[in-house]
Amino acid sequence: MKCPNLSCGGTVVRGNQHCHSCASPLVFCAVCSVANRSEAHFCRGCSTELSAQTFEESKDYGPSRTVTIGLSSLARPRSWRGWFWFVTSDGDVMRVSPYARTEPQPWFKLPEKSFGLTPPAIYSGGPGQVPDPYLVIMNTHQVLAVSLLNSDRTRIVYSPAAGRTLLSNTKKDNHHAIAEWARGVAFIEKQGDQQWLVICPFDREPWLEPIQDSSVVVGPVGRENLICFCTIDRLHWYDVATRRPGSLRFSGEFKPFTERPAAGVANLAPGVTPLAVEVSTQERRAYILGQAGERIYYAEADLGAQPVRMTAVPLPPGSFIDLNERGSFVVNASNEVREFTALGEKRHVTGRKLRGSMPAVLSNGDIIGFGEGSSSPIVCRRERFLTLGGDVQDCDEESVMGWMFRENGVALAVTNRQKMKLISWDRGGPVEMTERENA
Ligand SMILES: [Zn+2]
Ligand SMILES: [Zn+2]
Repeated sequence: MKCPNLSCGGTVVRGNQHCHSCASPLVFCAVCSVANRSEAHFCRGCSTELSAQTFEESKDYGPSRTVTIGLSSLARPRSWRGWFWFVTSDGDVMRVSPYARTEPQPWFKLPEKSFGLTPPAIYSGGPGQVPDPYLVIMNTHQVLAVSLLNSDRTRIVYSPAAGRTLLSNTKKDNHHAIAEWARGVAFIEKQGDQQWLVICPFDREPWLEPIQDSSVVVGPVGRENLICFCTIDRLHWYDVATRRPGSLRFSGEFKPFTERPAAGVANLAPGVTPLAVEVSTQERRAYILGQAGERIYYAEADLGAQPVRMTAVPLPPGSFIDLNERGSFVVNASNEVREFTALGEKRHVTGRKLRGSMPAVLSNGDIIGFGEGSSSPIVCRRERFLTLGGDVQDCDEESVMGWMFRENGVALAVTNRQKMKLISWDRGGPVEMTERENA
């Protein structure tokens, strides 16, 4: 059958993970078997909603595949519906397939380089809506959104009034960000000593909430209806549903990271904001990464408690800290991988020592990291350990950006001298449907 990428014209067969002509990732409909674009929400053959495919538990990882890109990006690419998305240091939005053999094609050209300094957000549409995902990008005077389905669809999300600026990154190690929340995005606006949190729903007018404190140094970061940010000595939060703000002073000597920490303190993945917000039906927590003296700590704020409780907990020095696919912190503590959730810290025992200064990822029950004293990635699966082969020779603490979770595998991003390398591994193949299930 024909490749679902209309500009391709190639032929694909059922079971292919990608088109062999244009490298587009593919999703086959479980009902009518038609090939669809990986980003499609409904099948083009029978209009069935395409939900995530199931992959066999026991399947191992296939050989690695490397895409080398002659461009640099401050933040690790984001994997979204089969593609890797990133904004380059030159301010270009790019998309590349894990199966590509050539340079990625630019998706959208931003008007200024400075858009590449603040990690972009992905807004995927409000609850109950058909997903209409946008990559949201900011600099000091504009917030732009580019559709991830059609690059001709762009919109100016927000521009501040004359004399005001938006708090975005001007250096590569600042930690300002765009928050994604249930129905839109949020960011900070400034004029002299005054500052506001701008809450910007995608389908309604934005509004501003004044912030009475010293300058915001981290965030904002959001989840559901909760938006958090930090000044040097306080955590602030804002509930969009109730329009109620709150704040709490950090205890003792704790200070959030205001710039990328030294490697001996912590290995914070490039582009990661040292603040995460976790929300479940019962609980809400914020986690802030920082230091007390020269040591790495995290502050855990239990926002569901009355009054709000905050505790500072030390972490192993030099730990690599990354985000999982949901945006939660994942800390490599060598003997275990710690995941910071809405219910508290969740520990995953590795069964074998990992090199704590390198990233680790949780993928379908596996823990993948680098073995201690080794430069090869290993998969920890219950009592078994497998080595992941591949093009990882020049990957160390200096060059590694982090792991990316993919729907059907994992990928590792490495950056070296203005070049990026994306190494990916596929996990088995999609579960074959039996005739009966197909009927
Ligand atoms: Zn194709
Ligand atoms: Zn179908």
